[in-house]
Amino acid sequence: MTTNGDMPAGWSMWHVFSKIVKRINAVGMGLVSLFFPPHCYLCREEVEQLNAICDNCRNNLPRISGPICTVCGQPLSDQSVDLCHSCGIRRHHFDRVRALGIYRDGWQRLIQGLKFEGEKAIAKELSALMADYLKHEDPFGIVDTFSYVPLDRRRHRQRGFNQSQLLANRLSCAFAVPVEDGLRKIRATQPQTGLSHQLRRENLRNAFTCIPSIANGRTTILIDDVYTTGTTVEECAQALKKAGYERVFVLTVARTQYDQTK
Ligand SMILES: [Zn+2]
Ligand SMILES: [Zn+2]
Repeated sequence: MTTNGDMPAGWSMWHVFSKIVKRINAVGMGLVSLFFPPHCYLCREEVEQLNAICDNCRNNLPRISGPICTVCGQPLSDQSVDLCHSCGIRRHHFDRVRALGIYRDGWQRLIQGLKFEGEKAIAKELSALMADYLKHEDPFGIVDTFSYVPLDRRRHRQRGFNQSQLLANRLSCAFAVPVEDGLRKIRATQPQTGLSHQLRRENLRNAFTCIPSIANGRTTILIDDVYTTGTTVEECAQALKKAGYERVFVLTVARTQYDQTK
């Protein structure tokens, strides 16, 4: 057995070489940030660290406040009711949905940056904002797992990553709560845009299934980037409940605001 004081020549050469490469990399990174300093994704102002956005833009991201539907989190104009029209007329498979903001302006640009440009710094930023929200608002209490809306295999291959999974993984680390990895999208579906409520349900029916990866997981927070009509998270929640979950909460970065009478 070779000791440290008696390194084989090849090993020591490799050690020196890897140190040199590391040093060049460090200098390279320093030069990159000198000539191309990181900029805020929203306002292009220079940011000091490798943050996606500056403090000013972060503080100005508009949060959902005021009365909301207690189930789906839709902002309500009528303060005397606690359910929106949709939740008043039908029960959902999910138990509660919350979102940080309305899907427009800064929220929309950040989500599109995450989804289509794969900006990892944005995933870090958005998951930190979600973690802050969970810590301060505590809308769901203690849960067993985080889960995420899956992509079908072809879409996952095309994009190379799943933005909801990136967020769920980071939240899992922040709270030391495991990720339920058993939810799968088992067939490709048409885009939901422009379909009626009935057709959206038909389009996604039985598109998701779950073989639980966490034994005895009973309560989960399902993570997605945007809540639009709720059909996708509804179908995912149904699959999670079929697999044994008793409570499925949903947390998204943003949500669209729809007509409250439909
Ligand atoms: Zn900014
Ligand atoms: Zn509602």
